[in-house]
Amino acid sequence: MSHEKTEEEWRQILTPEQYTILREKGTERAFTGALWDHEDDGVYKCAGCGTELFDSETKYESGSGWPSFWAPVADGRIRLESDESLGMRRIEAVCAECGGHLGHVFPDGPKPTGQRYCINSASLKFEER
Ligand code: FE
Repeated sequence: MSHEKTEEEWRQILTPEQYTILREKGTERAFTGALWDHEDDGVYKCAGCGTELFDSETKYESGSGWPSFWAPVADGRIRLESDESLGMRRIEAVCAECGGHLGHVFPDGPKPTGQRYCINSASLKFEER
């Protein structure tokens, strides 16, 4: 485990938008992020701590306006938490390593998992293969 950063340290490392989303559970507006229609071959890492979270092979066009994946790159990379904010019952996806908010998971994804990891572009850093 990496050492736990203070919110002040996070503010220094992250852009204001990344801070709002990763540390304050914000959401970028649909179709405004850098990666929702990004199709290059590579890996998507946590913008907070650099942990590899998703592979481009599981990315698909969901029509939601956010980067969407049907599975994380490995077990244990993403922690799922129940989120009952905004009068909805949703499953929040959190980086298991740094605790950063990534987005939500919905049960309307494609095969083989049927899951849709709906992730903010600002929570991700793409690295080409
Ligand atoms: Fe992280």
